[in-house]
Amino acid sequence: MVKDELKNKHPNISEDELLSLTREYVSDINFKVPPHCSGAAVDIDVIDIQTGNYIDFGSKINEDSPISAIHSDLINKKQSENRLTLLSAMLKAGFAPLYSEWWHFSYGDQNWAAFYEEDLALYGIKEPEIAKLNK
Ligand SMILES: [Zn+2]
Repeated sequence: MVKDELKNKHPNISEDELLSLTREYVSDINFKVPPHCSGAAVDIDVIDIQTGNYIDFGSKINEDSPISAIHSDLINKKQSENRLTLLSAMLKAGFAPLYSEWWHFSYGDQNWAAFYEEDLALYGIKEPEIAKLNK
């Protein structure tokens, strides 16, 4: 579990700091509709079709470290360019980034709504009261 791994890495941080750090790498448990579960979020890795090799983004997907931040200063220039190329393509397609994870993009979830200053996210849960109206 990510929270336990982070607790082991940072044994002296407070519970609030641990929750904040955990939220950088996994969905907030208070979200009614977790972004990946709704299909609103994707994790993207890219393969060069000519070589069959993964593009070098400077870290693996789901690496819970500052090196995973899109604009991390722990990566080299080429890795940074690769991240910005991916970021640019995803922004053109209307996705929102998550700055702590170069691979994570969303469309229609809470993060997307906040990034594009939308009043509402596109994905939500079916409310039982509304379902009753359709019967
Ligand atoms: Zn993700």
